[in-house]
Amino acid sequence: MIVMKFGGTSVEDAKAIKNLTEIVRKELPRRPIVIVSACSGITNQLLLAATLASQGKKEEALNTVAAIEARHKRIAKELFEGDILRFLNKHLTSVGEELTALVNGVIVLGELTHRSLDTFAAYGERISSLIIHHYFEQQRLKSFWVDARSFMITDDQYTKAVPQFEVTERKLREIVQPKVNNGYVVISQGFIGSTPSGVTTSIGRGGSDYSAAIIGALLDAEDIQIWTDVDGILSSDPTVVKDARKIKVMSFNEAAELAYFGARVLHPETILPAVKKNIPVRVLNSKNPGSSGTLIVSKPKTDKRCIVKSIAYKEGITLVSIVSTRMFLATGFLENIFDVFHKYQTVVHTVATSEVSVTATIDNTKHLAQIVRELKAFATVTVTDRKAIVCIVGDNLRNSPGLAVRMLAPISDVNINMISQGASEINLSFVIDEDSVDDVVLRLHAELFANAGNFPEIFE
Ligand code: ADP
Ligand code: ASP
Ligand code: MG
Repeated sequence: MIVMKFGGTSVEDAKAIKNLTEIVRKELPRRPIVIVSACSGITNQLLLAATLASQGKKEEALNTVAAIEARHKRIAKELFEGDILRFLNKHLTSVGEELTALVNGVIVLGELTHRSLDTFAAYGERISSLIIHHYFEQQRLKSFWVDARSFMITDDQYTKAVPQFEVTERKLREIVQPKVNNGYVVISQGFIGSTPSGVTTSIGRGGSDYSAAIIGALLDAEDIQIWTDVDGILSSDPTVVKDARKIKVMSFNEAAELAYFGARVLHPETILPAVKKNIPVRVLNSKNPGSSGTLIVSKPKTDKRCIVKSIAYKEGITLVSIVSTRMFLATGFLENIFDVFHKYQTVVHTVATSEVSVTATIDNTKHLAQIVRELKAFATVTVTDRKAIVCIVGDNLRNSPGLAVRMLAPISDVNINMISQGASEINLSFVIDEDSVDDVVLRLHAELFANAGNFPEIFE
C-alpha cells in the first residue's frame, strides 16, 4: 500500500483532477490511499469569509462564499454531466447554504473562535475530495470516499490540533484498511480531523503533508508520495532562485531541517512519522509526473562528503537579546530565560549565548510583551523585529572546513545579527534584516551551488 498526497495546485481545476486520476491509475497495483488538499486558494477564501463575518462585513463574506461555491460548480461542470452533475450541484448549493448559515452565526455572535475557523476551513478538503471521488468512479476506478474526521482523531487545540496516534491507528485499521484490502482506492482529506467527541479540527496550515505521513506510517505504507507543483525539493525556494537545482536524494534530517526553516514544499512535521517507521517519502511534480522527484530516506546511499543541499529562509523573525543584569553568569540564568519562553509556549528557533547574554529568535510574538516583562526581572532586554533566518542545510556540515568562510564571503557587506552552527550537524544558520533576504539567498546560492554539476548523483 502507498499513500499519495495531492496538494492544492494538484487539485486546482478540472484539468488537474483529470491529470491526478491518471497518476493514481498508474499506481493501482500498489493499492494507493489518496489524500487531497482543498483546491488551491480555497482554504484562504474560507478563512477570509469567516474573518469578514467576524468584522461584520456580511456582504463581502457572502460574496466570498458565493465565489467558493461557483468555483467548485465550474469544476464539476467540466468533469460531469447528467445525474452526477445534478447531484454535485445540489450538494454544492447546500454547502453554500451551510457556509452562509455559519457566516450569519459569526455575525450574530460577533466573535470568531478557533473552533469556528476549523469548521469553515474543513469545507475545502471535504468538497475537493468528494469531487475527485466521483471523478474516480466515472473513470472506472473502484473508489471509496472516507471522511477523515472519522479516523484522524486529534486533541481540541483548534487550528493546530495534535493528532492522537493510538486511536487514529485503531480507526484507520477499522475503517480504511479493509477497503484497501478489498481493492478500493480510498480517497480522503488531509489537514482535517476531529476531537474524540466529533468536533471538527484542523492540524495547521499546510498540514495535509502531515496527514498523509501519519496515515502512511500508521498503516505501514511502502511509500509516501507528496505530489506538488515543483519537481521535488530544490536547492532553494524557486520563487527566489529561478535556477534552483533539484535534489535527487536527501536524508530525513536534511528535509526536516529545511521544512522547519521555511521551505514550504514540505510541512515540517511530515518527516517524523515517516522516520519512525523508516518509510521513504517522495516529493513529486503532478505537472511533470515523469520527473523522478526527490527521494527522502533515513540514510541516503551517498557518501559522507559534506555537500550543501539547500538554502532555506524564514521571514517574520524577531530577535530577543537578553543581557544579565548581574556581572557574572548567575547559575540558572539560561534556565530562567527558557522557563519564561516555555511558560508562554513560545518556540525559540535559534540561540546564541555569551557569558552574560543570550540572543534568541522567535516568530510567534503573541506573548512577547509578557515575555519581555518577565525577563526584565533579571536582565535587560532588547527586541528587534523584521528579521529573517537564512539556513544552509547539508549532512556533515559541521565537519566542513572553510564552509563558514565560503558562506560569508559573498555576503561580506551584509550585517549579520547572529550566527548559529553546530547544534545540529546539518544546519548553519544566521539572522539578517528581512529586507535583504532575497538578495542574500541569491548570492549565497550562486556561490554554494556553482559546483553542483560535479555531483550528478545528488543534483539534477
Ligand atoms: P502544495 O499545495 O502542493 O502543498 P506548497 O505550495 O505547500 O504546495 O509547496 C510547494 C511550493 O513550495 C513550491 O511551489 C515552491 O514555491 C515552494 N518552495 C519553497 N522552498 C522550496 C524548496 N526548497 N524546494 C521546492 N519548493 C520550495
Ligand atoms: N488546505 C490546507 C492549507 O491550505 C492544508 C494543505 O493544503 O496542506 O493550509
Ligand atoms: Mg503544502
